[in-house]
Amino acid sequence: MWPYYPELLATPVPRYTSYPTAAEFGAIDTAPYAAALGGAEGDVSLYIHIPFCEKICFYCGCNTAAAGRRHRLESYLDALHQEIELVAERLPRSARVRRIAFGGGSPNALTPIDFVRLVDKLFVAFSLSDPVISIELDPRSLTEEWTKTIGGIGIERVSMGVQTFAPHCMQAIGRVQAEDTIVRSVDWLRAAGVTSLNFDLMYGLPGQTLHDLEDSLQRTRVLGADRVALFGYAHVPHLVPRQKAIPADNLPGQQARFEMAERGYFYLATHGYAPVGFDHFAKPGDPLASASLAGKVHRNFQGFTDDASPVLIGLGASAISGFPDFLAQNVKDAGRYRMITSGGMLPAARGIERSADDRYRGTVIERLLCDGSARVGAKLLHEVRGSLAPFVARDLISIIDDRVAISPIGLPYARTIAASFDSFRQESTRQFSSAV
Ligand code: SF4
Repeated sequence: MWPYYPELLATPVPRYTSYPTAAEFGAIDTAPYAAALGGAEGDVSLYIHIPFCEKICFYCGCNTAAAGRRHRLESYLDALHQEIELVAERLPRSARVRRIAFGGGSPNALTPIDFVRLVDKLFVAFSLSDPVISIELDPRSLTEEWTKTIGGIGIERVSMGVQTFAPHCMQAIGRVQAEDTIVRSVDWLRAAGVTSLNFDLMYGLPGQTLHDLEDSLQRTRVLGADRVALFGYAHVPHLVPRQKAIPADNLPGQQARFEMAERGYFYLATHGYAPVGFDHFAKPGDPLASASLAGKVHRNFQGFTDDASPVLIGLGASAISGFPDFLAQNVKDAGRYRMITSGGMLPAARGIERSADDRYRGTVIERLLCDGSARVGAKLLHEVRGSLAPFVARDLISIIDDRVAISPIGLPYARTIAASFDSFRQESTRQFSSAV
């Protein structure tokens, strides 16, 4: 059982997919981004953002819009091809692309032929080294032709947005998908050679009960998902206006959310999945579970990952790039993105330099979230001892010499514990989601 201490979860905290987080980004010009690209070496990962979906879900906080008319997608793709050239010509040939992730939005809002052209473009522009390719898919608009395209390219890692199997929850969040749609997608993807299939699921949905959650987890297990990412729905309509369509009076309260997170965790942990970090789960043998066993899980803008590359280059509107000493985000608006890239300029608009102190704190936060423990130097430990005291007093963490370790019952407090090491925390609590 996880002990419930509402006072420790009262303050919203970041998800720490980077440190500093995107909330700390300020306006930048493109010179430092160009310099960071020029200095990249060794293994590099690419993330390609497709900000379009066939149908927009009420809950979605992603930078995406309805695919609508074909010419919108075509002009976005023209801009994306242009950005690929701009980035590739600055990247040294010694930088080897080992990973490519397509996300969004829904990459399958593109036609299969446009997607193949995009993949070809990457292969021509960059120095690729037998890259591991992954893709996010919306099962509602997935076709057999699309899955055959995935098989033809050799993509073995797929993540599908499933969220819930409960019809009343689907209705409330504006994402209705028949179970047959999921079953059919799984069959097509397996036939196409996909070996690592992730289901995104959510708890904390309007009207959702513990039974609804467990039922969705059970269906997920029966359908054979290799990985599960179980996220708490963050209701922040002041930041995500489309969430105003979700009835707030029927949302589970914090304690109910806590119980759902706990039920989800123990269901998956006792039904063949290894917990990874605080919200991912993977079957033994899946690369993410193997990385977790070896203490080699990392955290980047896509969540917990086995990708160890120190450089992640984001391509597309709103995509974020991470370098050891610099973070940069492209303009979010697809129209401005098209305008800037068509003028032959890099579209990075916001970002932050990472100081040595940022990198150090970032490593502590990453290890705490990925491994549950981190070594902390005496000076930083002295600084955070006061903030950690409530967690120590409740046995949620232990501090022995220079090691801070989250105890098994402390897992639901992991993000809050990590936030103690965040020097930017005081200013921006309003922008984050519930700690559980
Ligand atoms: S399909 Fe995914 S990315 Fe698109 S609106 Fe729904 S949740 Fe957002």
